[in-house]
Order: sequence, then C-alpha cells, then structure tokens
Amino acid sequence: MEKISTIKPWENKYVKQAVGVAAGYGVYKYGGRVLTKPYLGYFNKSLASLTPQDNAAYLSIKNTVLNKYRNTLHVNIVNIDAAKSKEILEEYLPRANDKISKTKNPLKKYVLKTRKKRYVNRINSFAEGKNACYKPLTKEVYVNYEKNAFAIFHELGHALDRQNIKIFNNISKWRQSNKIAMRVLFILALLSKQKAKKAFDSDKNFGVKEKINEGLSNIDKYFFPISMIMYAPILFDEASASINANKMVKGILPENLHKKMNVLNAKAFGTYVVGALAVATTMKLGLILKNKIINAKSQK
Ligand SMILES: [Zn+2]
Repeated sequence: MEKISTIKPWENKYVKQAVGVAAGYGVYKYGGRVLTKPYLGYFNKSLASLTPQDNAAYLSIKNTVLNKYRNTLHVNIVNIDAAKSKEILEEYLPRANDKISKTKNPLKKYVLKTRKKRYVNRINSFAEGKNACYKPLTKEVYVNYEKNAFAIFHELGHALDRQNIKIFNNISKWRQSNKIAMRVLFILALLSKQKAKKAFDSDKNFGVKEKINEGLSNIDKYFFPISMIMYAPILFDEASASINANKMVKGILPENLHKKMNVLNAKAFGTYVVGALAVATTMKLGLILKNKIINAKSQK
C-alpha cells in the first residue's frame, strides 16, 4: 500500500478546533435536557397529584390573602386556562410576526424569533399548569386556577419582594443578565484556542490578546463555581418568594394543605437547583471535551 504523507484532515488543528467546539457546545445544549429530565418528571408527577379539591381550597383563600396585604401589595391575578392562553396568543402573535417580518437585520430577526418562541412556550406552560409567573410591569400573576392554584402564593411572594424591597428589582434583572453572561462566557471559553501548557511557558512574547485567550482557555477549571455564583440570585429570589408564601397563608390554610403547598414549593425550588447544576456541569464537561479533542495526539 502506498503511504500518504500529507496531514490527515482530523489532524489539522482547525478541524480539531471546529470539532472540539461543536462537540463542547453539543454537550451543553443537549446534556442539560438529559440531566434535568428525571427531576422534572418527578416534579411534574407531584404537580399532577394535586386534586381538584386541593386547587379549589387554595383558590378559595386568595382573596383573604390579598386582603391581608391590601396596603403593601397590588396585584391582579389572571387565570390562564386554555381559552385565556389562546386569547393572549391570538393578540400577541400577529404583533410579534409583524415585527419579525419588518426586521431586516438577521441577528435582530433571530433574537425576535427566539423571544417569540420562548413567550409562546411560557404561555402554553401556564395553560398546562406546569408553571406560573409574576409580571412586574403589569403587576399581574399568571396562574392556572384549576391545575396549580397553590402557585398563586409563591408568585404573590415574588410580587411582595419586588414591590416592597428595592433590591429584589435588581435581583430580578440579574437573573436574566447572569444567564446571558454565562452563555457568552461559555462560548468565548469554547472558542478560545487552547495551546499546550509548555508552549505558554516558553513563549515570552505574550501580548494582551494571548493573555485573554489563555485566561479563557484556562477558565474551565473554575467554570463550575463561577456558574453556581451566577445562578445564586435566581436561587435567592425563588427561596424568598416561597418563604413569603409560607407567611402569607399561615393560619388561613388548613394545616395539611399548608404543608402540601410548602412541599410543592420546595420541590419547585429543586427545579432551579437542578437547572443551575445542570448548566454548570454541562458547560464544564463541554469545555473538558473540547480541550480533549484539540489536544488529542495524532495517531501514528
Ligand atoms: Zn418563582
């Protein structure tokens, strides 16, 4: 057989870099779903264990709670059932589509499309009773009365924090910006060119650009704690809302339902913890995999 002396495509450093980046991103993108799936299944099972009587009981005390906080809390609670979600989307979609079709900039178009998809998914998850939310701009709570009325109090807990304690308005802003910052940091670390450690040490002419690149390519060591710190505001915000919910219904709900609400809120908190751990883990694993691929020695 004839010997081939040219470099094989998988030994080319750019090919290695591209494969490494793609594999690392794939681990982050799809690994998260795999890691969170068991817990989400467990949580949804708990939600499904709520009986119509439970939901009716939670719903029956909502006005008593609102009355208790009438001086400090101004909230409109909106029942998001199938009909209401349809109505909201029928109002929203033409506006969103119009905006997307008028946008020429492809990046802006992509952002708008992503936002639209996320909004539709959110409204559907409320209608399915898998989620609820507090909307600070309109001071509304979106919740499905028949499927998870217990969540009313957790969402009122968010409202209480945001309306009365200034710092929570900032925390809610950090929630979103930290998530985006984490993703940007991950992509930068993924794209950074990893040199062999020895080459770094022997190279005396290291510029700023190389220093940044080196920092980014070594950041994978600290990615786990960094992402957990970035997720701290979310966890803090969520824990506080559930603590508020517990105070709100104290003495109003029957003991068994009060306990059930606290257990469900604790399990809901678990979805945020599992989510944060999954992001931290998949980002770290993605970076490890990428470095393994680009540092792999060529086969002889
Ligand atoms: Zn919450």
